Amino acid sequence: MTSTPIFAVIGAGMAGLSCASELHAAGLGVRIFDKSRGAGGRMSTRREGSGQWDHGAQYFTASTPEFTQQIESWLAAGVLAQWQPQLAIIPPRPAASSSHPRRYVGVPAMTAPARHLATRLPLECLRTIDAIRRDGQGWQIHSTERGWHEERFAGVALAMPAPQAAALLRAAAPGLAAEAGAFAMTPCWAAMLQYESAPPLPFDAAFVNHGPLRWVARNASKAGRDANHCWVLHASAEWSAAHEEDPPDTVLRALLQAFTELGAPPPIVARVHRWRYANLPAIETAPAPGMLWQADLGLGICGDWLHGGKVEGAWLSGRALGRAIAASPRARRGAAAASASSGL
Ligand SMILES: Cc1cc2nc3c(=O)[nH]c(=O)nc-3n(C[C@H](O)[C@H](O)[C@H](O)COP(=O)(O)OP(=O)(O)OC[C@H]3O[C@@H](n4cnc5c(N)ncnc54)[C@H](O)[C@@H]3O)c2cc1C
Repeated sequence: MTSTPIFAVIGAGMAGLSCASELHAAGLGVRIFDKSRGAGGRMSTRREGSGQWDHGAQYFTASTPEFTQQIESWLAAGVLAQWQPQLAIIPPRPAASSSHPRRYVGVPAMTAPARHLATRLPLECLRTIDAIRRDGQGWQIHSTERGWHEERFAGVALAMPAPQAAALLRAAAPGLAAEAGAFAMTPCWAAMLQYESAPPLPFDAAFVNHGPLRWVARNASKAGRDANHCWVLHASAEWSAAHEEDPPDTVLRALLQAFTELGAPPPIVARVHRWRYANLPAIETAPAPGMLWQADLGLGICGDWLHGGKVEGAWLSGRALGRAIAASPRARRGAAAASASSGL
């Protein structure tokens, strides 16, 4: 008996969901697995009490017609809005360019576009995939929560930061693991603060060019958020790398001190989060091929780091991998056999 080939996508961030959407649109079977509680990855929102913080990606932009079209569909679905903050540069300096990019944010939270993509796709959360292997029947995945899953897959797409993909591939595909291992990613310490009332700051968001901070933003300046006086602070990549292993309390104190120097009062809630693999370094460590697909193995990788970084890069990378898989003999053979056996 033949059936539609099913592909596993590991990672439900923007890259994995974009890849899975392409596979689904091509009529292929797909299952997505993610170790966290929901879709979004680094397009993430933390909630605690009355507080809400987009503590990963802050906003995104579009430079390609393909992603602009995707943005239009998210705007039409009401899961995205343009963001036009009162933006400062500290210390003040003339803007490097006179063009102002359109900035977009998920509504009511940064996770919204990813969750919207995931609604049509089978996603299993709280599955940390820690091994994959292949035999004559296909690929099998192992999660810390369920052990070896019984289902066999025609192929596997990894959609996660480079160091995590390299670790997962080391035993199953050392060549691909080495390619992923050539990419470095920088950490980012993020602080999440809540105030009793609005801090007296003359901006909604600011690029900060001295001290530990690189970015600060008032969460409620984005559409659809409650006016809960929540701010997100991001440390610079350099400072985050230098303090990567510092105790969270020490990091929080340093970031709070720097924000106080910008005029902020003491917060009523203060939390800190370390993104170990946040962004690509400013200087490329390896050329960006868009995605990696090894057709003979049925194994591929996508992610922002393969497409220049950022949300748009993640979406484009996932889409490119999904299309490569759908066009591969392994997918077409299975799909043709499935339609023949169903009499189509
Ligand atoms: C602090 C910060 C600020 C940022 N600011 C911006 C910005 O302003 N604009 C912008 O465009 N981009 C920004 N980015 C980058 C942007 O968030 C990413 O480019 C994009 O979200 C990456 O998507 P992805 O799908 O490639 O990876 P991810 O979003 O990292 O998705 C990977 C997914 O894989 C899952 N996963 C990993 N390992 C496993 C495993 N073993 N088993 C199961 N699941 C696994 C993770 O849980 C995650 O959901 C920022 C990122 C950070 C961290």
